[in-house]
This record gives sequence, structure tokens and C-alpha cells, in this order.
Amino acid sequence: THAPTAVPFRAEVRQLLNILAHSLYTDREIFLRELISNASDALHRVQFEMLTNQQVRDPDAPLEIRIGVDKDAKTITISDTGIGMTREELIENLGTIAHSGTRTLIENLEAAQRSNIIGQFGVGFYSAFVVADEVTVISRSYRPDAEAALWRSQGGESFVVDAAEREQRGTTIVLKLKEEAHEFADEWRLRQIVRRHSNYVAFPIYIGDERANESTALWHQPPRNVEASQYNEFYRQMTFDYEEPLLWVHFSSEAPLDLHAILFVPAKRERGFIERRMEGKIRLYSRKVLIQEDAKDILPPYFRFVEGVVDSEDLPLNVSREGVQRDAGPNRDPIVQRIKKSLTNRLTKELVDLAEKDPIKYVTFWNEFSPFIKEGIATDPLARDDLLPLLRFHTTKSGDQLASLADYKGRMIDGQNEIYYVIAADLESARRSPHLDALNDRGIEALLLYDVMDSFLLNGLREYQGLKLRNVDDPNLSLPGEAPTPEVSISDEQFTRLVNVFKETLGERVTTVRASNVLRHNPLRLVSPEDQQYNREMARVQRILDR
Ligand code: ADP
Ligand code: MG
Repeated sequence: THAPTAVPFRAEVRQLLNILAHSLYTDREIFLRELISNASDALHRVQFEMLTNQQVRDPDAPLEIRIGVDKDAKTITISDTGIGMTREELIENLGTIAHSGTRTLIENLEAAQRSNIIGQFGVGFYSAFVVADEVTVISRSYRPDAEAALWRSQGGESFVVDAAEREQRGTTIVLKLKEEAHEFADEWRLRQIVRRHSNYVAFPIYIGDERANESTALWHQPPRNVEASQYNEFYRQMTFDYEEPLLWVHFSSEAPLDLHAILFVPAKRERGFIERRMEGKIRLYSRKVLIQEDAKDILPPYFRFVEGVVDSEDLPLNVSREGVQRDAGPNRDPIVQRIKKSLTNRLTKELVDLAEKDPIKYVTFWNEFSPFIKEGIATDPLARDDLLPLLRFHTTKSGDQLASLADYKGRMIDGQNEIYYVIAADLESARRSPHLDALNDRGIEALLLYDVMDSFLLNGLREYQGLKLRNVDDPNLSLPGEAPTPEVSISDEQFTRLVNVFKETLGERVTTVRASNVLRHNPLRLVSPEDQQYNREMARVQRILDR
């Protein structure tokens, strides 16, 4: 394997390189973000490897990224002391498409080209070819017996692999800049780009000999020293979301539990471009080592929209990097349980505070994330009580506003000891429900439930502060308060005849037809058979699940 070998790119890579060469790439500078992010991944991986493996090349090499510029030769060099790649890994990793953003780009190519947003995808390693007409990668794997190898390509049909001279573990990438990208051969310019896109990378990035990124992880700084703009920047660099987060919570404690974390509630449920990601990622660090990139068990499932970093010295390091099996994972660890509880309580409290102090902003939260909160109440009995203050409803008295259960309780009439609700397919139908006649007459408020999640919600809700929730279609509804006595203008005999006509006409479609003393402005209402109220709600849930 000492002779240089030409290897053709896979078809999909050729297609991508062709696009990159011919598209007007507006965000060209993000090539640096992509290469730094790969270097940082490689450093995290070798750091993680060293926790358990003694047999690593250069165990004492500082974990860092160095960027150099040759102004005359118009080259940029990006080096890391990360995990490195063998010859086979170079072929495998840089000859195919690994990056999920790249796949998404290829799938949505037409739309991306039409709106000239290719730059926003972050096409991973290949974005180097947006600014370079030749890319050389020289790497040496952390495995002690691996030899150094070289990968080189002009971005056409193929690349070349060869043996290389390199003692130190890690990877160096040399970009020979295209004529129209010579502006990047400038330390000052690169420094700006690092600050804009990679400021919060966990390893030092040096340009020349000067550090270019933040020297302390943001979550390790005392919250009072961190400004709103820094949180926003950190969020943007971490998530690539184009909107600022709606809310953040910064945890900082050393005792009794060491916990440094920043959690973000995004502005929108769907974030990212075209990718439409709904779930957040929690990056889990222990002793500054990234141990899980997408920790699933550190927050309850109903908070899965939350993004952030969690770092604790107390976490066990023997947690797999790729994620964990539910039963074998850190979720059984008492420390993980304590961290989870602490994060959950604080996050819930912040949301409750927001609801109280900034109701307008809270409504924007509710409009995006209410399904998650409802799910939490329906599925997590222990969290239920804490989450109840977050609920908001349209009601027969709230008009265009939303009401909380506390609002409802405050407006109950004398003698009322139940919370009434009507379920319908949409808000307008709910408002027009004939079931509401009797309540309106008595000045009793009703919750208007029309969201698909509401049937789930009712499963867990059932009662609030001792007040049972009752569907107004209950045939045995007995209401407090007094209603004006209606004027009766037909005789009993006429009424019985009318009922018989209904019975004959409807036949088996109804169980029975009977007189109502709660209807006022509507001629009739449909109620459910007395013993089947619960079944009917479950049937509704089932219909939603079947969709
Ligand atoms: P992604 O980073 O999303 O996996 P990329 O296209 O950015 O996709 O990188 C492709 C692959 O090349 C990476 O998954 C990694 O295996 C490898 N790679 C790229 N840069 C480096 C590096 N500096 N050190 C080690 N491996 C690297
Ligand atoms: Mg990458």
C-alpha cells in the first residue's frame, strides 16, 4: 500500500461536489465551521477513548485545534490532535456521505438551489471544496500500530490515497484556496469567522499562536457574568436554529451536587432549515468530557423539545458515548436521577414563572409546545401536579384569551364543585355546542376542548384541586345555580307525540329519546349512554392513535 491509489468517489459524492462547484454559495465561510466541528468531534472521541484505553498514541498531546495561514501560497491548514484516521478510514469517511445535513441537502436539492440556501445546510467535510480547489488530508490514527496516511482530491471524480509522513496523532487538512476565495488566507478574517460560528467549541482553537475562541465553556461561567447575547450566540452555534431561543435556564452549583448546565426552550417546535427537527439534543459532559451527544434520559420525555448542555463532575464516566440502553444506562444511576430531578424542577418553575410574569410571551410558548405539556400530564403522574399551572384553555368566558385552571376556579359560581368541559372537533363547534345552554343560563364557565391532545390530557387530568372534571354531555349533569324557568308552550301530550316521532325515525341509531330540562336555545343534544362515558373517551384516543 505504498503506491498512491486513485479511488473514484461514490456517485452521490460526485453529485454533491458538482453542485458545490456550480452553485452560488452565499455562506462560504461556514466551511471553517464544518472543519472545526469535525476536529472537535475527533478530539472528543479520542478523549473518550482515553478514559478506558491505555493504548493510545501520544497520550500526552494537548487536545487542541490549530489553524495556520500561508498568505503567499494561499493555503489554510487546520490541525487537530484528535482520533485521526487510518488509510481505510480516510477512504471510508471521506469517500462517502456521512453528514446528515448533506443527505438532507441532496434530498431537497431543487428547493435548495431555487432559493439559494445551499450554504445553510452545512454539508460537512465537502464544504471545503466551496473555497478550495485542492484539499489534502494527512492523518495518523490514535491506534499505536496505525501508519500515517494521506488523502487528496481536486473535488472531481476521484481522490488519491497514499502513505504519509506524520508522527503525531491527529489530522491536518490543507486547503489550497480558489482564486475567488483568496480573501480567506487572512488570520484576522478567520478569527472573525471562528468567533461567529465556533466560539463555544470545547477545545482551544489557535490561529497563529493566539487563542481564537472562548476559553471557558459558557456553562462553567457564573450566570451573572453571562450576557443575553452570549446565550443567544451559544444557542445559535449549537443548534443552527435561525431564531433566538424563547427561554434559557443556567444552572450553576458545586455542592451538594456538581451541576453546570444551560437549557434552552426554542422559539418554535420545528427548528432548523428544511430538516424540521422537533426534538432537542442534550449534550452530556462529565469532567469536561463529552459522554453523550444526545442524552435521552437526562430530562423526562415530555421535555424532549429542550436543547442544551449538562455537565456534572459527579456523573459516572462509564456511560457509552452512543447512548444507552434504557435498563443498563445511567438512568438507573442515582446521580443521574438527582440531576434529572433538579433540571426538571427548575425548568418547570421557569415556565410557571414565565406564565405568571409574561403571559403574552407564555402564549407563544403554549401555542408551540402545549402538546408536550399535555403529554406530560397524561403520562407522568409524578410530574402532573407541577405541570398543571402550565395548562391553558379557551373557555366560554375567556373570549380570545386563554385561561388557566386557577382562572377557572376563581370564576366558579356559588355551589359549583366541578369543572365542566365540552369536547368538539374545533373551537367554533365547541362554542356552539348545545350542551352549553344550561351552563350559560347559570353563568357557569366551561373549558372548550378541541385539541387532538385533549383526550389524552383528560386521562391524566381527571381532577384539579379536588374539583372533578365533568363532560357537559353527561346525561346526569346536575348543575348548581339557578336558571330562569322556561315558558312551556306545548302540552305533555304533544310532547310525548313528538318524542315518539323521534324514536321511530331514529330507530336503532339511538338508545332512547327523553325530555331535557337543561336545554334552552337548542332543540336537542346528544348524550352518551350512562355507563359508557369512559369507553367513549378511550375510543376517541384510539381514533387519534389510528391516524
Ligand atoms: P459528519 O461530521 O457529520 O460525520 P462530515 O462530512 O463532516 O460528516 O465528516 C465525515 C467523516 O469524516 C466524519 O464522520 C469523520 O469520521 C471523518 N472526519 C472528518 N474530519 C475528521 C477529523 N479532523 N478527524 C477525524 N475524523 C474526521
Ligand atoms: Mg462534520
